[in-house]
Amino acid sequence: MVTLDPTRPLIICDADEVLLQFLAGLERFLVRQRCYLDLGSFRIHGNIKHQDTNQPVADEAVTKLIADFFASDTRHLEPVPGAAAALQSLSHHAQIVILSNVPETSRDARIENLHEHGMPYPVIAGKGLKGPVVRNIIGTHSHPVVFIDDLPPNISSVAKETPHVHRLHFIADPRLARLMPASPDAHGRIDDWPQASTWIASVIGAA
Ligand SMILES: [Mg+2]
Repeated sequence: MVTLDPTRPLIICDADEVLLQFLAGLERFLVRQRCYLDLGSFRIHGNIKHQDTNQPVADEAVTKLIADFFASDTRHLEPVPGAAAALQSLSHHAQIVILSNVPETSRDARIENLHEHGMPYPVIAGKGLKGPVVRNIIGTHSHPVVFIDDLPPNISSVAKETPHVHRLHFIADPRLARLMPASPDAHGRIDDWPQASTWIASVIGAA
């Protein structure tokens, strides 16, 4: 676990589709498998299809593909524009922790990838809904806390477990952003980093 500085606000930030371009990376990987993601809806199972037949890949095979993707490509994702600059600026006013549902075996690759792109922050590899993990991370921390994630179930989970945490819904990929309405359990929905940075700065009292 990460040691928290009790004197500073805390920013707990997701990585995939917030700091890193998960979808674009997955698409590059799928091309190598002669597959593609049909973005008719916001889901992966059922939407990965074979290039040759346009038929969906079976669910078990999709689970294997995603595991292979994390194993081989976590090290090589592209950053979301503006993310590193925003976190760097916010880091003068707050402690930053990255909470990413990446397999534990890919945690080092994720750290190296983020480091390479100017985001050298501690990474916690989570699993499942993030509310209970956020509650554990925060403990008795009493300064403002901001949580940022692209997936509404995580935002709702954090709202339930730690209602005092400020919740920002952020989806970097414009195609996914169009598919996904704002989470009703978020305080804000912003999909670009310069604006998100201003929002977070005002929440932690740094604006
Ligand atoms: Mg994510």
